[in-house]
Amino acid sequence: MDARMTDRRRLFHTLCAELGLPAEPQSLVGGAFQPGTGEAITLEDPFTRQTLAQYADCGTDLAARACMAADAAQKLWVTQFNPAARGVVMQAVASALAEKIETFARIEALVAGKPLRDCRVEVTKVVEMFRYYAGWTDKLHGEVIPVPTGHLNYTLREPLGVVFQITPWNAPIFTAGWQIAPAIACGNGVVIKPSELTPVTTLALVHLAEGAGLPKGLVNVLAGLGPTAGEAAIAHESVRKVVFVGSPATGRRVAMAAGAALKPVVLELGGKSANIVFADADLKPALLGAQAAIFSTAGQSCVAGSRLLLEHSLKDRFLELMDQGMRQIRIGDPLDEATEFGPVSNARQFAHVTAMIDGAVQDGATRLGAQGTQGDALIVPPTILTGLSPQSAAAQTEIFGPVVTALGFADEAEAIAIANDTDFGLAGAIWTRDGARAHRVAAAVRAGTFWINSYKAIHVSSPFGGSRSSGFGRSSGQDALMEYTQPKSIWLDPAPIPRVAFGYAPST
Ligand code: NAD
Repeated sequence: MDARMTDRRRLFHTLCAELGLPAEPQSLVGGAFQPGTGEAITLEDPFTRQTLAQYADCGTDLAARACMAADAAQKLWVTQFNPAARGVVMQAVASALAEKIETFARIEALVAGKPLRDCRVEVTKVVEMFRYYAGWTDKLHGEVIPVPTGHLNYTLREPLGVVFQITPWNAPIFTAGWQIAPAIACGNGVVIKPSELTPVTTLALVHLAEGAGLPKGLVNVLAGLGPTAGEAAIAHESVRKVVFVGSPATGRRVAMAAGAALKPVVLELGGKSANIVFADADLKPALLGAQAAIFSTAGQSCVAGSRLLLEHSLKDRFLELMDQGMRQIRIGDPLDEATEFGPVSNARQFAHVTAMIDGAVQDGATRLGAQGTQGDALIVPPTILTGLSPQSAAAQTEIFGPVVTALGFADEAEAIAIANDTDFGLAGAIWTRDGARAHRVAAAVRAGTFWINSYKAIHVSSPFGGSRSSGFGRSSGQDALMEYTQPKSIWLDPAPIPRVAFGYAPST
């Protein structure tokens, strides 16, 4: 090993070797690691700013090869494995991953800058996703429909063929498992392009799955860039659907490219979710919930409670207590067991978050929370912005960092109006002891997911998705199975002489 290698880089290489990955990321196509040939990409540890790895964009040729590999393997997956056998393979993948949770979590903490304890939870959730969808493989059946024509009419739910999935850097292993598991449970082949900034755990997941019995080439991973590998895969003739998890701006571009090729898309995009606290709320859980809603994973969560709506009579006291609470959050090295809050995941995002805070202060915002840095780490401390209008840039733009805009409201009607005054429609929450009000507000706020007296509870069995700038289509639960299959309607005429409505009967 190179003597000049930093400790973090050495650790990174050791963890990769444990999972059988090459030292520098390469695409996984047809079961073999393949180096890229394009633009150089650097993986940087966002806590120490040390370079962990450098690799080359896979480019368009490898993207095409990945699509062809998925196409060939998908045909075997549906002909040589019956549905129950596909479930058995997926259970084996889950068991293999369960054995390696720690290694996966440490790689993720190092590359994405997420606290280790959060990474463990995310890897564990991927185990759960594979188990959940393994249980569905032999329960995907159609219906018999009582058509009025006398025919026997029934439906089959068929796989789509090859799906192309694109995932972001904020929850790499989680979003990979979230989309791969239902796709293959339904009998599809997959090409997945994780963010170029966090490709490692997705590569490791698929490599491990192949070791556990997943046919090689059924899932292929592109280590590369969106405009090259991503756009080439969207356009490839084998790809039948595109599932995108990422920002609204890129989602629009992906949807337009898919639309040009007449391919359907699912878009799981951003949010600006309202976390609404009424004066009658149980204060302590509401405070803890408001902090977790925005400060866990340093706010880099699509469902982050980034607009905190507080009833006027409660607002000052709530903010004072929250300011005290957030100063106790343990900020530090993601690899440290005690760390609750790590750096922003990459330099580009750090620049965006800090620019949004500076802009808000220029717009007249007051900033609450401790300030300060830790060496070179890309840390933005937990921040509350007050004194802004609901229409201000900080209250309308997805900051995607540990920054919450606090807004006051007078009554239920105003809370709902402010909550819905956004382009997004992903999530939201209410804290109150009034059960009837909780249900009224849950019904009135535009959101694909809404919590009552809690925040961020999600599970693979429950549908997830948004509307407007938060996207369309659904992931998780049975809804994901509908996204990854298509119905075929079959008609059988049981009459002794077929009831042909048109044409000449041959003389036999
Ligand atoms: P991003 O849009 O910059 O990138 C997402 C992915 O798109 C990456 O893999 C990127 O390489 C790829 N990409 C970029 N240009 C492309 C192109 N022209 N064609 C094809 N692919 C292209 O998003 P990000 O910064 O990585 O992630 C943060 C965003 O993701 C936030 O907006 C967040 O809310 C959203 N997100 C949403 C969910 C959800 O479930 N709704 C979950 C996690 C993250």
